[in-house]
Amino acid sequence: MGWIRSTILSRLPGVAHGFADRNADGNPAGFFGFSGIARLNQVHGNGVFILRDGGGIGAGKVSDGDAIVTSLRGIGIGISTADCVPVLLTDHEGTVAGAVHAGWRGTVLRILDSALQKIDEEYGLKPRDLNAVIGPSVGKCCYEVGEDVASLFRDGFGDASEYLIETDGCKYMLDLPGINRGALVKAGVANIEVLGMCTKCNPNFFSYRREGKGVGSQLSVIGLV
Ligand SMILES: [Zn+2]
Repeated sequence: MGWIRSTILSRLPGVAHGFADRNADGNPAGFFGFSGIARLNQVHGNGVFILRDGGGIGAGKVSDGDAIVTSLRGIGIGISTADCVPVLLTDHEGTVAGAVHAGWRGTVLRILDSALQKIDEEYGLKPRDLNAVIGPSVGKCCYEVGEDVASLFRDGFGDASEYLIETDGCKYMLDLPGINRGALVKAGVANIEVLGMCTKCNPNFFSYRREGKGVGSQLSVIGLV
């Protein structure tokens, strides 16, 4: 493997994208033909950064934040994950691209809703104008959380029981991609694809839960060409 492609994004003209596994090309900007790939200093919040200036994008991070959106062409935007949920977004015409990092904290803070709202404010694109792909992340097969995290989802999401399966006593399996898919459905995003690959089950991916502290991360990239 290397770069995993979404079916729905592959159909859109003018959009290049990929979800890396641990064997992906070491020069993703070159691979996709971008002049650079803008990345964030991800802080597990709900901040959305609009990339307006593509000049001088190097190895450094362009901003703090957990979602990045742009209408610039020839430049990629990317987020890094090692179990958290990566989400790539673009409209049907391929005029705006977004990349979102949704870990459990960002999911509780409704990072996807923040990104959708910002895309509407900045570009006048509604969820019905958008396509979203949920990439490889830790799945409900492998994501055990305690009562502390479970209670945040129960308090914040009316339908959380669908995404929290109690295993024994105070432990739960949390369906993080599922709950983010639910947020996209609720918002009215037109086309949603879930790749359904678990990073912990599949050794082709970096996984914090499998490998612990110091683990690498995989890049999810999208950009307009
Ligand atoms: Zn798994």
